[in-house]
Amino acid sequence: MALKHTPVPLAVVGGGAAGLFAAATAANRSLGCLVMERKARLGAKMLMTANGRCNFTKDVSAARMLAEIGEPTASFARHALSACPPSRIAAAFRSCGVKTKRMADGRLFPASGQAADIVHAFGDLLRDAGVPVLTNCTVAGLQPVKNGFIVATRHFTLWAENVLIATGGISFPKTGSTGDGQRFARELGLRTVPLRAGLTGFETEDSRVRARASRRFENGCARILDAAGKECCASEGEVDCETWGVGGAAVYNCQRWTARHPGPFKAEILFDGLRIVLDSPRARPAKEAIVTIGGVSTDEIDPQTMESRKIPGLFFAGEVLDIDGPTGGFNLSLAFATAHLAAETIAARRAARGGAGPSGGAWSAGRRPERRF
Ligand SMILES: Cc1cc2nc3c(=O)[nH]c(=O)nc-3n(C[C@H](O)[C@H](O)[C@H](O)COP(=O)(O)OP(=O)(O)OC[C@H]3O[C@@H](n4cnc5c(N)ncnc54)[C@H](O)[C@@H]3O)c2cc1C
Repeated sequence: MALKHTPVPLAVVGGGAAGLFAAATAANRSLGCLVMERKARLGAKMLMTANGRCNFTKDVSAARMLAEIGEPTASFARHALSACPPSRIAAAFRSCGVKTKRMADGRLFPASGQAADIVHAFGDLLRDAGVPVLTNCTVAGLQPVKNGFIVATRHFTLWAENVLIATGGISFPKTGSTGDGQRFARELGLRTVPLRAGLTGFETEDSRVRARASRRFENGCARILDAAGKECCASEGEVDCETWGVGGAAVYNCQRWTARHPGPFKAEILFDGLRIVLDSPRARPAKEAIVTIGGVSTDEIDPQTMESRKIPGLFFAGEVLDIDGPTGGFNLSLAFATAHLAAETIAARRAARGGAGPSGGAWSAGRRPERRF
């Protein structure tokens, strides 16, 4: 048999939420693909989400989700979320056998309360479709060449026609997300926005907070006030007291707002009959945050495709991009939808060239699973 060296149609760098959704989409379209993940197991951060329960989306329309996400992310993610709205995300997981549970406010979780159901659903789908998944495989860099990219690890290089960078942000670096994708982007001449914490708590030494450390107050409220005392942002929900200050969904959503707006601000936190006022509140470090704000500038990316405007064939999805949403399933939805758009774009282009489909060659995913990714 004559052997011919051909590129893999799609190399996905990062086996987290975005990378796995992209690979599942590619498998469903019989687009040849492989996943390169630095950790020994897939989806380490997904396993941590919502205290191990994984609030994977919210049962609302794409338009409502975009309104709750707000600018600047909403404008950029509009096409991706419209093409892959929460209903489609939920249907994709259900089609893989994940039973889901809807909370009164619309948040969706696996019915088992186990984030592992979501990660296993991806793993099973990729195994059944024959998609190679390389774990313990840290991508060190990539170089554009004539017909695609050379993707380099410490031990080998591979040739890929298209590359999707889905390496996440910088929070909880032990999950494998350490900012590599942003570095790759800069090395290739793309602009990145400085990385900072999103959805994290505010520090305070207020003795009333310290006295309540480790307690959660469900009906709290957080507000951000500008120098003139005008309310800029408000969020109701949980307030958690910690030894270092205040956290919980109400506080996180207000902190997220401050991370995208220049100060000075005051933060006012109401819970348990108390009113705590924080002047120029200091956020906890990015490594403890739920999401990273900043990343590959959305100006560099075509929102209709998730492809680099400067480097054809180079795609980005998920938290590596300068996109973020509030608590409640929005950040995973953004990762899934942007990943879906990137993989669909590549599959559609190859199909138009006659290069995709069940018999698409050695890298073809082969068997087409009846799953709606
Ligand atoms: C504690 C916590 C709770 C959360 N809860 C929720 C929630 O309930 N709902 C929600 O919507 N969002 C939640 N989030 C946010 C959500 O988890 C992230 O936004 C989402 O995981 C981002 O997906 P991603 O694929 O972009 O990045 P990640 O999931 O971080 O995946 C990136 C992957 O890339 C790999 N990688 C990085 N660099 C390389 C490299 N050089 N080579 C190979 N692989 C590499 C990493 O190891 C990692 O597996 C939570 C986050 C945290 C920290």
